[in-house]
Amino acid sequence: MKVECIFCKIINGEIPSKKIYEDENVLAFLDINPSSPGHTLVVPKRHILDFQEIDDDDLLNLMKICKNLSKKIVSVLDADGYSILQNNGIAQDVKHFHLHIIPKYSNDKTMDIDEVYKKITNE
Ligand code: 5GP
Ligand code: ZN
Repeated sequence: MKVECIFCKIINGEIPSKKIYEDENVLAFLDINPSSPGHTLVVPKRHILDFQEIDDDDLLNLMKICKNLSKKIVSVLDADGYSILQNNGIAQDVKHFHLHIIPKYSNDKTMDIDEVYKKITNE
């Protein structure tokens, strides 16, 4: 864990998050400042900087999980499309590799983060 990394703190439970998927190597949680309802971040639990640093096997595993989660998010929230985004260097605010899943809606959709969380997790 990198001491000052906010995502490492989320992963180890120091900072709360709305988790929608977790396994031994990967965590997915709702973005605190969503671009659209259901905006999700998929991160490796091991601290890795960016796209060029991540191991190929870890990247493939992360992409597979991201693909499955995108299906679930789009279906549960009835989205009309989605973007997969990954930022690096000056484009990257949090220096711990992450994939964004950003649902797209043909009509402006307002849903607060608790409602989104309930729908995705069935709680
Ligand atoms: P980046 O520009 O690094 O690709 O995006 C970082 C993302 O992390 C942003 O969309 C931002 O809203 C999100 N983020 C930053 N801090 C936190 C946090 O403490 N909790 C959650 N859930 N998301 C965060
Ligand atoms: Zn980290």
